[in-house]
Amino acid sequence: MNITFAEIIPSLLPSPENLQLNSWELDKTATQLAVNVTSVQNPVRCPVCLAVSHRIHSQYRRKLSDLSWANFRVTLQLNVRKFFCINPQCQRRIFAERITDVAATWARKTQRLTQNLTAIGLSLGGNAGVRLSQYFGFQVSRNTLLNLVRRIPLAPIQTPRILGVDDFAFRKRHTYGSILVDLELEKSQPIAILKDREAETLAAWLKEHPGVEIVSRDRSRTYEKGVLQGAPNAIQVADRFHILQNLAEATSASIWQPTKKP
Ligand SMILES: [Zn+2]
Repeated sequence: MNITFAEIIPSLLPSPENLQLNSWELDKTATQLAVNVTSVQNPVRCPVCLAVSHRIHSQYRRKLSDLSWANFRVTLQLNVRKFFCINPQCQRRIFAERITDVAATWARKTQRLTQNLTAIGLSLGGNAGVRLSQYFGFQVSRNTLLNLVRRIPLAPIQTPRILGVDDFAFRKRHTYGSILVDLELEKSQPIAILKDREAETLAAWLKEHPGVEIVSRDRSRTYEKGVLQGAPNAIQVADRFHILQNLAEATSASIWQPTKKP
């Protein structure tokens, strides 16, 4: 059985059932492949009123970077349609179809490329992520990788019964915030970063998340005050790290800095 490359391409496309292959162009010198496709998804709904429309207004082209195929960088030239909304009650007269499993609206990368870059950014961060992306043939900046990671939706927070609070360095010796950790069942799962180390900020978080019964903290007056304001009924305990740190400081102070004789 002889299968041509043109027959293989559709199965390599994102959302092959919604895209029709028009043409492709292989540039061996530049190791680039441009694939021209047209959206044929049906039905198409108005994003505002969700009415189905078949009345095409016009067509335009989007250029999307896609995953590499072997060592060839791939660009999808995607022809997308604009439709009239046929619902007279709808405020939108014309809308562009959305092919969400190919790419987000206004995106310049396919959804699957974005997912891969997000995974790289999440595993390696900015600079190392850029180096690995380049190795795989993706041109991406450090900021783009970090923005992708920031856009990952967070799981909803469940207020823990036992909460740990401690300093968190945004930039060591310069900017500090507070990190809140779920200590229930010894999970030690970070659940929130507060913008500073102020008592009022911690109190506000505790008021928004009622139900904390025990707070483990350092021995600073600030966090003590924050807990008293935000969760006055919670039991406050000093965490083991800070007890040991204080003990070490007290012991070394007694050895190396003897109290002055009156
Ligand atoms: Zn509509």
